[in-house]
Amino acid sequence: MVNVKDDSNNTLEQAHLDFISTVSHELRTPLTSIRGFADTLLTSYDRLTPEQREKFLHIIKDQSNRLISLVENLLTVSKMQSDKELMIYKTVDVTPFIDAAVQMIKNQYKTHKYICNFDKNIPKILIDTDKFQQIMLNLIDNASKYSNEGSTVQVNVVPDYQNNSLIISVKDEGIGISKEDINKIFNKFSRVDSPLTRKIQGNGLGLYITKTLVEKMNGKISVESSSCGSEFKIEFPFASPDDNAKKKIKE
Ligand code: ADP
Repeated sequence: MVNVKDDSNNTLEQAHLDFISTVSHELRTPLTSIRGFADTLLTSYDRLTPEQREKFLHIIKDQSNRLISLVENLLTVSKMQSDKELMIYKTVDVTPFIDAAVQMIKNQYKTHKYICNFDKNIPKILIDTDKFQQIMLNLIDNASKYSNEGSTVQVNVVPDYQNNSLIISVKDEGIGISKEDINKIFNKFSRVDSPLTRKIQGNGLGLYITKTLVEKMNGKISVESSSCGSEFKIEFPFASPDDNAKKKIKE
């Protein structure tokens, strides 16, 4: 008995150490770059052309944004793991939240086309709307950043009346994910290691957070991919009148 406990403690401790080591590495890379370019600007300002100065300042800004997004994701992971994350459930029509997420991403990817397919009066689901928005932002952002300029991202909402569930899919025409990688992408800090993905900024936490949030809200996530693009599907049960009562018992 004692050995089993010791073993599980050791495994937990090792997982923590691995986590700290990965986080430190992820933080060090942008910080090293920020310090390097700030140093160059300070020591060689007069010798640099205005274009070079501007280029270096842009790198500093991009790397700072990368740090901010990493720290925000880390805070979300830490809240999710400590179970301190307060979920505020509401029974809602999700389409306005999907529209809002598409609008936000559209502003960042000006050449992409976004198509939303959903009917009026789709069945409502019980969700935390902020977390749902975060899920949609992650999926639509990934669909946009892992595809070429000018390509189309489709968001479909389809009620499955046989299984009483709502299926929301985000489909892109991007670089796709290989069969070997597809099972790993939902793990913490997991990024596909290829020349194409290395050019695109990310920290490998988005899909881990997305999957955890979907499952917290009683949903399921799946993905299909080929060299022509990927389709991520999330599925939530239709809300039922006794959902609120059930939720209270669960809490
Ligand atoms: P990241 O911050 O790296 O984008 P995610 O957790 O959101 O982290 O995704 C994990 C990895 O899964 C990405 O690094 C990428 O390799 C792959 N991936 C996610 N979404 C897509 C997509 N729509 N098309 C191709 N690859 C994707």
